Amino acid sequence: MGVWIDIELCNGCKRCLKACPYDAIEMQGEKAVILDRCTACGACIEVCRQDAIKSDMAERTIPDFCDYSGVWVLVEQREGELDPVSLELLGEAQQLAQALGQTVGAILPGKDIANLTATVARYGAEKIYLADHEQLASYQTEVYAEVIADLVALHKPEILLVGATSRGRELAPRLARRLKTGLTADCTALTIDQDEKILLQTRPAFGGNIMATIACRYSRPQMATVRPGVMQPCERKKEYPVEIINYDVKAVEKPAVTILEAIREAKKKVRLGEAKIIVAGGRGTGGEMGFKLIEKLAEEFGGEVAGTRIAVEEGWVTVERQVGQTGQSVRPELYIACGISGAIQHRAGMLNSRYIIAINKDPGAPIFSVADWGIVGDLHQIIPEMLTQIDGERV
Ligand code: FAD
Repeated sequence: MGVWIDIELCNGCKRCLKACPYDAIEMQGEKAVILDRCTACGACIEVCRQDAIKSDMAERTIPDFCDYSGVWVLVEQREGELDPVSLELLGEAQQLAQALGQTVGAILPGKDIANLTATVARYGAEKIYLADHEQLASYQTEVYAEVIADLVALHKPEILLVGATSRGRELAPRLARRLKTGLTADCTALTIDQDEKILLQTRPAFGGNIMATIACRYSRPQMATVRPGVMQPCERKKEYPVEIINYDVKAVEKPAVTILEAIREAKKKVRLGEAKIIVAGGRGTGGEMGFKLIEKLAEEFGGEVAGTRIAVEEGWVTVERQVGQTGQSVRPELYIACGISGAIQHRAGMLNSRYIIAINKDPGAPIFSVADWGIVGDLHQIIPEMLTQIDGERV
């Protein structure tokens, strides 16, 4: 039967209407009535002061997870080079592990990568699960997912953090599916609820208009992906014991894909997440000519060029240079936003910048509310003037 209303007890206060997230209650006369689209979530039951809302749904009990322990990071490396996001996640894992009174673990998959364990330990891992195998030499989603899922199922960490890189985005949902647990993608903040000792995972929702905090109460590990540039790496200051566990990788038989040869793409890799200075342009640049000014200013500062989603959609800048909720998260020393309104989805990717300078002809543009310095005016006049003054300084 799900959820129903005892109309004798209902006093028509409408509290349940406001509480229902699915618009599944309406008033018929003075009484509330549950509609077919009710999902029996129980939100209305909690707010009814008359005890008029009844449910025959069995209360969900939280399983005993006492054999799960540790905050783990899936460490990514490419041809023996650690991905910076893994070190950022290890920094975050240290704080979460401290709040839980647990240890930081790292999974390090690859081939001949034992030399990386020293760095992984320096950035916080206390236990390193080394999965060194021929089949892991080149990244293959299926093989990596099988091996990592087996390792996690065996050692039962409480939390597993994955970088929201192209690989991480492919792997994390497959791991969650294999481990029969939940996954919160693209988190921007992680904390521990001190009462329940569970991970609170915050991420933008509904087009970035609200921040949603998600908890995974009924399954383990609690899994989250986090974008590069959002968390801070943190080297351990003191000596501490590090355990390296050589995981006995079982080869995956007949994987669906076999890599015959890997050919590196010739184009220059954009590493916006690591840039110290970024000059970004938006619709206000007016087009490719306007973007030439952005490029000149970036070149002058030895920085990288970036853009808003509008600039990408217009084809003025390539997609890997998009900053924001659906682009890159950056944390440069200096972010110069030119002709950018400062929509919440753009700000989501650049708020961690140390200093922000905004150039916009509209003094009411939201970008000014997050800028350390604001220049109100036409960027087509201001940027050439800046270039002239920089050149003047050098003479
Ligand atoms: P506009 O908002 O049009 O702003 C242009 C600004 O330029 C204005 O403030 C104007 O005053 C100023 N201007 C105009 N001419 C000049 C001039 N000559 N000199 C100086 N200033 C001038 N956006 C992102 O950037 N990144 C994302 O990752 C992203 N993800 C999104 C995800 C979702 C689900 C959704 C719904 C939207 C997303 N967006 C994202 C889009 C976002 O909502 C905004 O539409 C976008 O950021 C606006 O880009 P803009 O600032 O270039 O353009």
